[in-house]
Amino acid sequence: MTETDILHIKQLLLQPKQIVIVPHKNPDGDAIGASLGLYHYLQKGNHKVHIIAPNDYPEFLKWMPGENTILKYDNESNKCDKLIEKSDVIFTLDFNDLSRTGDMENVLVESKAIKIMIDHHQQPEDYATYVYSDITMSSTAEMVYHFIDMLNDLSQVNDDMATCLYTGIMTDTGSFKFASTTSTTHRVIADLIEKGANNAEIHNAIYDTNSYERMQLLGCALNNLKVIPEARAAYITLSKDELNKYNFKKGDTEGFVNYALSLENIILAAIFIEDFKENIIKISLRSKDNFSVNELSRLHFNGGGHTNAAGGRSELSLNETVDKFISILPSYYKALNNE
Ligand code: 5GP
Ligand code: MN
Repeated sequence: MTETDILHIKQLLLQPKQIVIVPHKNPDGDAIGASLGLYHYLQKGNHKVHIIAPNDYPEFLKWMPGENTILKYDNESNKCDKLIEKSDVIFTLDFNDLSRTGDMENVLVESKAIKIMIDHHQQPEDYATYVYSDITMSSTAEMVYHFIDMLNDLSQVNDDMATCLYTGIMTDTGSFKFASTTSTTHRVIADLIEKGANNAEIHNAIYDTNSYERMQLLGCALNNLKVIPEARAAYITLSKDELNKYNFKKGDTEGFVNYALSLENIILAAIFIEDFKENIIKISLRSKDNFSVNELSRLHFNGGGHTNAAGGRSELSLNETVDKFISILPSYYKALNNE
């Protein structure tokens, strides 16, 4: 984002505007945290602001300030279409391609509003008027903080904004442990605590509110964990029947893939989850060091993301998808064994 872009955006936001904020489909803590942080900021600037999420998100995010105002496109598409049609400005947060909004893609493509992208995914598409894309950033929530800073408005950040942005940064950095966490990230976090984010309460609300059934499902996932030592890979499967047995709810499998990655000597981890609503296998991939799961996912699983965290999908059966995964590993042996 250039200084001229910032000047234009400042100018644009001088008068009250109709603004829509859109996170990606199946929004995670960063998508919701960044959207809500920006929502509170823009509301303070007297704009009319709506967050429209393509669909629902996990219960463990449903305590964040302002969360109850978020509209879900799949529930109220007519109302959402009207809001998008009459919006002056649309912020798209935490994604790089309008197809990541699922059924919202068409109405967003058609919209004449000024679009502002804030995102840290690789290979951003060229759909926005103003693009703030930085793949070195820990999270989109951290970028929203820097965006407000570029607008010279950090003095406007209150406890609600701080809480939401803290949550986004915390969830996307695996509680500040991923390589994307920089000294600047920690400075931002320190400032957010000073501005009213209660770190202990936020950690508790996100990580210590598990249902008993989720823990049982985790047990099942760990039982299903398989290791392919020669590829330094490990994977987990969860079938429809297993998910049903433990009364699966959205978000219950969040973070499971990290247990596969936590094994000694493992560089590549995957989880394959039978998504009975969409009739696909949803795939999450994680890696260590330079091994790019973004590339693997783009090439083989119709997805993408970051170097060390990506997602994708498969229309094959669960078993066939796992077979496909295993069959492509030999082409990565060298990269996985650092040769
Ligand atoms: P997760 O595995 O937690 O769902 O996603 C990991 C990362 O990959 C996130 O940054 C997410 O936005 C991205 N991602 C997940 N699923 C997809 C997908 O189907 N397509 C693309 N392009 N990115 C995805
Ligand atoms: Mn993110």
